[in-house]
Amino acid sequence: MADYAKIIEELEGIAVEDNPALVKQKSRDFYWYSPILKEELDNVVGDLVVSPTTEEEVIRVLKVAYAHGVPVTPRGGGTGNYGQAMPLSGGIVLNLINMNKVKEILPGRVICEPGIIISELDRQTKVHSGQELRFHPSTKQTASVAGFIAGGSGGVGSITWGGLRDLGNILRLRVVTMEAEPRVLELSAWDLQKVSHAYGTNGIITEVEMPLAPAYDWVDVIVGYDEFMDAVKFADALSHKNGILLKEVAPIAAPIPFDYFTRHKPWLKEGQSVVVLMVAPHSMEPFLALAERMKGDVRFRSDQVESMKGIPHAYELTWNHTTLRALKLDTNITYLQVQYPGPDHVEKVRVMTELFPDEVIGHLEFIKFDGQIQCAGLPLVRYTTKERLEEIISIHEENGCPIFNPHRYTLEEGGMKQTDQVQLAFKKETDPKGLLNPGKMIAWENPDFDFSAGKNYLFPGLEVFA
Ligand code: FAD
Repeated sequence: MADYAKIIEELEGIAVEDNPALVKQKSRDFYWYSPILKEELDNVVGDLVVSPTTEEEVIRVLKVAYAHGVPVTPRGGGTGNYGQAMPLSGGIVLNLINMNKVKEILPGRVICEPGIIISELDRQTKVHSGQELRFHPSTKQTASVAGFIAGGSGGVGSITWGGLRDLGNILRLRVVTMEAEPRVLELSAWDLQKVSHAYGTNGIITEVEMPLAPAYDWVDVIVGYDEFMDAVKFADALSHKNGILLKEVAPIAAPIPFDYFTRHKPWLKEGQSVVVLMVAPHSMEPFLALAERMKGDVRFRSDQVESMKGIPHAYELTWNHTTLRALKLDTNITYLQVQYPGPDHVEKVRVMTELFPDEVIGHLEFIKFDGQIQCAGLPLVRYTTKERLEEIISIHEENGCPIFNPHRYTLEEGGMKQTDQVQLAFKKETDPKGLLNPGKMIAWENPDFDFSAGKNYLFPGLEVFA
């Protein structure tokens, strides 16, 4: 057991919290979305929460933690879904939310600290020069920019700009290493892949430079269809129209909209599936022309309601907010993350939809993937047992629809089920004692783990919380 009294003493001048209730609160994220992670991680808790306000303070914390051999798990808004920000070996939760300043706004880019909440970042760039981030998670109001980079993948705007791992969608990061004498590294271009979506396992991000796009007063639109596949075909045709500027295209199957989008209910029709959209104001006319031609039933337009007071943004009906809205009303719901590789993605969606009537309910996000329009899915699943969930996953994969498993806390099992050699090599350089966010990178903990054996990885360190 580390000497936390001594550690607190050595961190003098930096905000430290050891009140067990508050530490527990900051040791959680949205892991409970998954009934499996809920069971596995429910007792996980850190020992201290440390909240630096400058890069110098981050360096001091890492130096002290390294000397004491104490794990450090970084945390932004704590909105990750897979226990990413949960300290599986206890230790320090490094709360970066107070490092929240915008440093410089330039044409096409912004430089800021890691903990700024994304909606605040967008607000400042919009006021400054009519610019905004190219895309953001649906948790824009609560997630930090570095948490998104280290834990997220894409979101609202990915229909035009692709994902975080696409070259050019992050410009530069400053990263502090976990060594006896922590170093500050500047990463750009290919090197960014070392830390983007690495769950903070190989460095603490202390400065971010992100590209910007022109900001618009996006119009929220909901278009209804009696058949889910007609909604999907409309979304696909619309996403392929080069001239119509969109920020969000999400087909969502009945009964999700009418049952779970409670604030939009007055505009929705029971039994209809919908496409939830964000359309640039100057694209509304051509957009409506296409919707009319494809017999879409335009149910809601934010530019035509008297007041948006009390009505959530359209993006808060999409991505993992769709799951959240369902979970609020039905705790038996869970979800999957599916890729439907193109160019026959619409056909793949049709096959999957027909295989699981009423059990797997369609929710798609149209995105640009390597320059091509495709769709990813976050379908809702009426959960029965772990075994059935695994079976549903296998059936998807057998049908050419890979699953990014949201019921696992490791990078590999939630991703491509293989070692990321770039991230592993970087960790060897930056975190020789393996103290950063332990348990999240299987390749580090157990280099011989056999992904093809179909077994789940269980981090031995978790036993202390059993
Ligand atoms: P946290 O949850 O605090 O951290 C995420 C990961 O980043 C953790 O591993 C943490 O250790 C690490 N980390 C945090 N800060 C740093 C740092 N400074 N340096 C190094 N590592 C760090 N994700 C998407 O990609 N797109 C979506 O549209 C989306 N929608 C969501 C909707 C809901 C309702 C929920 C609950 C989640 C959603 N997510 C989505 C997942 C999550 O919100 C995003 O990944 C979010 O951007 C995480 O930001 P955060 O600040 O909350 O990060």
